[in-house]
Amino acid sequence: MSGDPAELIAGVPSRLLIGGTWTDAAQGRTFAVENPATARKIASVADADASDASAALDAAVAAADHWAATPPRQRAEILRTAFDLLQDRRDDFALLMTLEMGKPLAESDAEVTYGGEFLRWFSEEAVRITGRYGVNPEGTGRTIVTRHPVGPCYLITPWNFPLAMATRKIAPALAAGCTVVVKPAELTPLTTLYLAQLMIDAGVPDGVLNVITTSAAKQTSASILTDPRLRKLSFTGSTPVGISLLKQAADQVLRTSMELGGNAPFLVFDDADLDEAVAGAMLAKFRNMGEACTAANRFLVQESVTEKFARRMADRAQELKVGDGTEPETRIGPLIEAKAIRKVQDLVNDARTRGARVVTGGETLDRAGYFYQPTVLRDVPAEAHLTSTEIFGPVVAITPFSDEDEAVRLANDTPYGLVSYVYTKSLARGQRMMERLETGMMGLNTGVISNA
Ligand code: NAD
Repeated sequence: MSGDPAELIAGVPSRLLIGGTWTDAAQGRTFAVENPATARKIASVADADASDASAALDAAVAAADHWAATPPRQRAEILRTAFDLLQDRRDDFALLMTLEMGKPLAESDAEVTYGGEFLRWFSEEAVRITGRYGVNPEGTGRTIVTRHPVGPCYLITPWNFPLAMATRKIAPALAAGCTVVVKPAELTPLTTLYLAQLMIDAGVPDGVLNVITTSAAKQTSASILTDPRLRKLSFTGSTPVGISLLKQAADQVLRTSMELGGNAPFLVFDDADLDEAVAGAMLAKFRNMGEACTAANRFLVQESVTEKFARRMADRAQELKVGDGTEPETRIGPLIEAKAIRKVQDLVNDARTRGARVVTGGETLDRAGYFYQPTVLRDVPAEAHLTSTEIFGPVVAITPFSDEDEAVRLANDTPYGLVSYVYTKSLARGQRMMERLETGMMGLNTGVISNA
């Protein structure tokens, strides 16, 4: 690793990976990849169309039977080798993510750890594919349940965790014996292309992993989604796109896995250790500039500690150095694109006009790139748009509550149910919250809960 961005990017594949060969798009088109910290182009990659997508699926179909029959131990060893190679190349992956997505280098490095764990975990799972043996109800026969690879999968990933969202899909599919076509987000295709090269180096056979990059996600995906040879769709991204993909999948009765948006409530009760609550809140909000599905979106704080909590969050937010993620002291990088800045600014302005008070921040930064000040708002009313919308930016929105019932009512007042956070010293209350909060995951006295 030289640490030189231009040299690193020159070594990243820029074409489609189809059947083990790096291939230009059929129409010869490319699209630009930008660094959000500078708003400058850093690379061009192949721009696939529907015919490229079909070719990628052809390759996944051709490789499917052989890969399904590969001994699990062999699949496990390939994934484990990929994990090891990722450790060797971790500085390159970290820098590449910072360049195309903007997160600070330390966070990119943490994502290499997080993303790598999916390779390690599923290398271990590959050899533990079990079934079930039972007695049928009549007692006259036995029931054997066995597991089989479903076949070719289409994997669509978002831009916010360019490495981890790819390994989280590729590793389990390959471990199970499935072949895949991966389509990374158009804003951050480089990390997936670089990962695909790593997987080849680790020994993934031709056609098992195919990658298409495209500026026209909808049209290009349609040719795969309507192909009866596709067996499964796995999507991580926004809820509206997920809904539209589920409708398309229904036409083919496709198996689906959907990881969609979030609107996490972060509850602070008056018996919480406030130092710990602030530390957890900083992570739950400002990690990844707030651009995480698990980001705390609504801070619900018991009235008696609201003032203190808001003050301390503002003090901490003001200390965060905003800048280019490649600079070592940077704690908050740019948002992903100009549209994201406008969305955050609109949400903050709306909250203000509805009576929220700005404790700190609330403005974009006057410099190249897409920077927004770490912001703390208090007295945010329930009708402010940011309480019902994924903010996806560095904005702490605090709403006070009086008692546990009100906290639960406010927390559950959303169609999202991904994750919640609770700070309290009472174990009994913590356990009650697990029952009462309608979220799939709950962090108790912790601000980060993602792991393999
Ligand atoms: P997005 O939905 O805009 O895009 C996600 C992916 O879908 C991209 O690859 C995009 O190119 C593709 N896509 C967009 N429209 C499509 C269409 N019509 N057909 C096929 N593909 C299409 O989301 P994003 O902005 O990239 O990511 C942010 C979103 O992802 C947030 O809502 C966030 O909460 C969510 N997310 C969820 C999880 C989770 O585990 N639940 C994890 C990370 C991100």
